Amino acid sequence: MLATTIFKEQRDPLRCRAHAPELQLPQAPSVPASILDELQQVVFQTDRHGNWIFLNQAWQALSGYPVEATLGDSCLAQVHPDDLAREQSTLAQLLSGQRSRCRHEVRHVRSDGEVRWVEVSARTRHGADGMVDGLLGTLSDISDRKLALQQRRLASSIFASAGEGIIVTSADGRIVDVNGAFEAITGYARAEVLGKNPRLLSSGRQDKAFYADMWRSIALTGSWSGEVWNRRKSGEFYVERLTITGMRDDDGRLSGHVGVFADITRQKLQDQHFEHIAHYDPLTGLANRRLLADRLQQAMARARRSGAGVAVAFLDIDDFKAINEAHGHECGDELLAALGRRIQDTVRDSDTACRPAGDEFVVVFDGVDSPQACQPMLARLLHAISEPVSAGGAVLRVSASAGLAFHRQSEDIGADLLIRQAHQAMYDAKMAGKNRFHVFDSLGYREMVERAEEIEVIERALAQHEFALHYQPIVHLGNGELNSVEALVRWNHPGRGCLPPAAFLPALEGHPLMLALENWVLEEALRQHVRWLDAGLDIAISVNMSGAQLRRKDFVAHLRGLLAAHPRVNPRRIKLEVLESSALDDIAHVSGLVSQCAEIGVGFALDDFGTGYSSLRYLKQLPAGRIKIDQGFVRNMQQDPDDLAILEGIIGMAAAFKREVVAEGVETAEHAAMLVQLGCMLAQGYGIARPMPPEALAPWLAAWRLPAEVASCAPLERDDALLLKALVEQRAWHAAPGDAASPSGMQAFDAWLDRHSRKRARCKRQVARALSCRDAFLAQAGHAGLAAPREQASRAFADALKELLHA
Ligand code: C2E
Ligand code: CA
Ligand code: CA
Repeated sequence: MLATTIFKEQRDPLRCRAHAPELQLPQAPSVPASILDELQQVVFQTDRHGNWIFLNQAWQALSGYPVEATLGDSCLAQVHPDDLAREQSTLAQLLSGQRSRCRHEVRHVRSDGEVRWVEVSARTRHGADGMVDGLLGTLSDISDRKLALQQRRLASSIFASAGEGIIVTSADGRIVDVNGAFEAITGYARAEVLGKNPRLLSSGRQDKAFYADMWRSIALTGSWSGEVWNRRKSGEFYVERLTITGMRDDDGRLSGHVGVFADITRQKLQDQHFEHIAHYDPLTGLANRRLLADRLQQAMARARRSGAGVAVAFLDIDDFKAINEAHGHECGDELLAALGRRIQDTVRDSDTACRPAGDEFVVVFDGVDSPQACQPMLARLLHAISEPVSAGGAVLRVSASAGLAFHRQSEDIGADLLIRQAHQAMYDAKMAGKNRFHVFDSLGYREMVERAEEIEVIERALAQHEFALHYQPIVHLGNGELNSVEALVRWNHPGRGCLPPAAFLPALEGHPLMLALENWVLEEALRQHVRWLDAGLDIAISVNMSGAQLRRKDFVAHLRGLLAAHPRVNPRRIKLEVLESSALDDIAHVSGLVSQCAEIGVGFALDDFGTGYSSLRYLKQLPAGRIKIDQGFVRNMQQDPDDLAILEGIIGMAAAFKREVVAEGVETAEHAAMLVQLGCMLAQGYGIARPMPPEALAPWLAAWRLPAEVASCAPLERDDALLLKALVEQRAWHAAPGDAASPSGMQAFDAWLDRHSRKRARCKRQVARALSCRDAFLAQAGHAGLAAPREQASRAFADALKELLHA
């Protein structure tokens, strides 16, 4: 803009607020106007009334009003109303000659309403008469300077009064300034640290990597915040929450850093205190249950990654209750605290010792290879616990039982389960006599869990009526009549079909559910007996009873109750089968039971006879009316001379004691025939009938015929038993050809020949044939190498013996 200097008369009398206009030409300034226009300061002149008579161009920038429009106005026209009174008085003093100059700050209101701070510097001008005829001076806009100053003042008051410590460093890391809070927190006076590196506060608790990360973050993002452990001048550690910000100058160059920090040591300690309460047992200072779970989980996760092992030891002080009772709880607490210290001192640093509750302690062994590797440590722990402790004025001695569980098992297990397993092992150690440790057997445990699940399923099946009884006939081999049936339990499993007892009874062994199932069996058998009675069939039933059932104190009463509830059942038609082996377990009790049941009329059978001791003495003591020969002997009697001998023995024994004898496992007519010859007239087996549902029994009975081969047999005379022996031994010989020139079958036959039995006289033809077959067999004796023809001859001889036996 073209610089103009305008001298002109005041044109608008209305804008003159100071004095009435007084026309008087001003003196032109001695500096060329164009130069004045270049100034940023306003240069002015007023008349003796204080009205503008000269302003340079800077006026417009300061006030917003054009110069031409302003000349002639009072120099107070733009003064802020609040400053006006003071300005008027100053102006009056100047114009009246009381003062010759002034320099002060005043607020002006610009044309747009904005308030600016203006520095006024003026002096009086004098006319020729020596009187003041106006002012000459400058106006400078100092608003920006003023604002900056204000801000600086604010900043420095914040700096000085802030509760946070503030530290300002130069770009090369020297301390430029610190505030009072810094001094209070660190204990260093400002003068001591100026020019030093803030490193002087370092505690050494953070490593190099920590600081490297911090500076990287500041370089990258301009700032960093975090917690830092530092050290006061006194050497005391403290924690501060620190924020560091990089400062840049106008050119973007790093000019230094400001760190603002608060001392959070107390808060931190309090947090730690709470943390401690939450995770540690107040009595012993050991980890509590919560921390134990955390630590164990972490250790197990680490172990899973690294392949190392973790074991948990569960310790329980033996008879701690007695100490509490004898010496009081306070003494008990003192003892526990002492034991806790010992445990802590005994374990390695890497192990975690805890007191989850009461007198229980748990140690997590981290990084162990096997349960065996923990055993020395366990032994040390138990030893440490057993050392005398003085507590409550007494010297106490305690012991502990411990259980150990190792995390590596056939399946992945959780921390909880591992602790429970260690607890179980501890319990076993207690049961085994205390003051010892047991290692948890994970296989045994799994079986136990599986069994418990199995039992649950069986219990549900019983409640849902999934069990049923099948009945297997026992017949008389002389007349073919049905003697009785044996009730055999079945599980009609919804998914797996009809299951035999072997599929579920073993799981119930020793479990109370076995009793419940057998109760059901017994009752169902009674009900079935009644149903058959209704159908016109009086069928005797044998029911199997387990040893546990027989050991029940109230068994006889229970049986009486059942019979009373089924009055149509004749107790003599019911028999209880008990395994020979379980009867022998408690022979005195069982024989008493047998006698008591006999009073009611209920008979007993000794089941699977021959598999127990089968001694004459036992048989004498057990008044069971019936013995059942185990099917194993029956199955093999045709080719095993030993089994035949046992069979003969049992049958002879039963006859001597006047007991009924039943052969089980009779699968063929030949079995049956042989049993008849041996004198065993009752038989049960697939050869007669398989176990069947009750409704199948009547149809079976209608169709059943004794095979002619059996019907035609009769018990052998005593001598003829030798023939049977010869036959079985001959068969045994060709089943496993021996070298003996004169096998035992031959010897038995020769013995029979010597007896002059009636059969020899009666069956001349058969005897002759047997003799010639024997000779043919003997003729092969010299040819040991010719096994096949010799074996053939043996078979022919055995056949001839069989023919003779049945003749
Ligand atoms: P057990 O008392 O010796 O019953 C005879 C078993 O032999 C039955 O097996 C029967 O089916 C089977 N059997 C019968 N004849 C023959 C044959 O000719 N050849 C062969 N190989 N086997 C034959 P099941 O029904 O499987 O019963 C097995 C065992 O379960 C029974 O042996 C008995 O000890 C037990 N049991 C069955 N029901 C009950 C019950 O209600 N309570 C108790 N405590 N045990 C029962
Ligand atoms: Ca039986
Ligand atoms: Ca049996």
